[in-house]
Amino acid sequence: MRVERASRDAATPLYGGLEAGGTKLVCAVSSNPARGALAQVRFSTGDDPSALLAQVCEWFTEQERAWAPLAALGVASFGPLDLDPRSPTYGFITTTPKRGWAQCDLLGPLRRAFPRRPIGFDTDVNGAALGEGRFGAARGLEDFLYITVGTGIGGGGLARGALLHGLVHPEMGHIAMPRLDGDTFEGACPFHGRCWEGLCSGPAIARRVGASAETLAADHPEWERVTRYMGVALGTLTCVVSPRRIVLGGSVRRAGQLGEAEFFRRTRAALAGALGGYIDSPALRERGLDGFLVPPELGDDAGVFGALALAQDALAEAARSR
Ligand code: ZN
Repeated sequence: MRVERASRDAATPLYGGLEAGGTKLVCAVSSNPARGALAQVRFSTGDDPSALLAQVCEWFTEQERAWAPLAALGVASFGPLDLDPRSPTYGFITTTPKRGWAQCDLLGPLRRAFPRRPIGFDTDVNGAALGEGRFGAARGLEDFLYITVGTGIGGGGLARGALLHGLVHPEMGHIAMPRLDGDTFEGACPFHGRCWEGLCSGPAIARRVGASAETLAADHPEWERVTRYMGVALGTLTCVVSPRRIVLGGSVRRAGQLGEAEFFRRTRAALAGALGGYIDSPALRERGLDGFLVPPELGDDAGVFGALALAQDALAEAARSR
């Protein structure tokens, strides 16, 4: 956890951030997210959202007693989500296969517990992108992607400084993938089989080799396959979105006994192969792919600090529209 050490200045607003992930929920409060959090807590996601959200509201209420009233909240959640403020189900998690969470009203309990407070809301990966952009590995950039490869694969990012939204939100983990020679795996995605997530998420790797990625030996052929698929997918995204940098987070990048550094080295090599020398830019010429494909600086805190950044933006937006 990044800790905000300086004593809180009473004049600065207090922000609350909630990162809702498939396995854990992380909450934090901060008056200066660039420095860290005043307090942070984790809950297991489980399959009873209403009980869990009651605990979350209680924790934030305790923080208000300890510090000050919350000025704004930010929520960065796994999806799919309804992000359309005009929709009657705005703030809901929609069609997730996760037990108990489909059509769950995520924002409702927070709005009722903290009325009149602006609440920023976006995907976990857009949140993490915002966090890395404001406080981490993509500081100073207006065009970049954040990709997580873990329980699932998701991507978010900014284009000209604005978070990527549209029809719904990007679903980069579900792009179609070519088949590598000799690969007969049918894939693990319930919707598409062998999309990127169906080939390279933690559960996909576990299903293919019958063991979790963390336990695989460094010389296991699965690493070669996974990093080649990663390079292909990242090459596709680079061609489509033209990010100035890609921050790659999630648990799979730690790559067990292979190690994070080697995982990045191989994935960058595969990405270079996928790009075929076609994409040229001064930044790439100067720093190569080492400066283009990077691990998150905030590590596992990217999501919750992204949620705090969403709270900052929600408060700024509310002030503008007043
Ligand atoms: Zn899929």
